[in-house]
Amino acid sequence: MLDLFYYGHPLLRSKGRRIEKITPAIERLAEQMVEAMYEYDGCGLAAQQIGSSLQLAVLDVVVAMKDRPSKAWVNGKQIDLECLSPIVLINPEIIPVGSKTSTDDEACLSLPEIYGKVKRPARIKLRYQSLEGEQLELEAEGLLARAAMHEVDHLNGILFIDHLSPHELQKLQPILHQLMRENAM
Ligand SMILES: [Zn+2]
Repeated sequence: MLDLFYYGHPLLRSKGRRIEKITPAIERLAEQMVEAMYEYDGCGLAAQQIGSSLQLAVLDVVVAMKDRPSKAWVNGKQIDLECLSPIVLINPEIIPVGSKTSTDDEACLSLPEIYGKVKRPARIKLRYQSLEGEQLELEAEGLLARAAMHEVDHLNGILFIDHLSPHELQKLQPILHQLMRENAM
């Protein structure tokens, strides 16, 4: 079982290296990340959170979707997320579609017991490579879009707390300081 890295660890602030070749080691890591995501009850996990600074993340919003709907399209055709999940994202990229935004609560396995409202684009295009090396593009709304943006942020060393208002961030300072003390090196 992979160990989680928590807020305060410098690796969470690193930009992941691009994956040029999908080796058996990358395949194994992706598989372990999917297992860890389910084990820790997350709807996404980025490589930085398990100690690898790479452009690699996994997503599965199917269970969480019951309360927070998601929609996805491939080539304009709506697809069933249950068939697609878990999704392994290699070298992913986010392109916002339109100017509509959505604000909702976010949490993160690397920031236990912290929640906050984050405003993000409501609809996105998600470009990524699959584990088979295929270049794919998905259009997404709802929780899937939010989770994908949260994970792609991780791959660039960005955490959801970076998007909070100064006031909200202020309220979280005591717990953030404590995590920082426990996990900084
Ligand atoms: Zn996170």
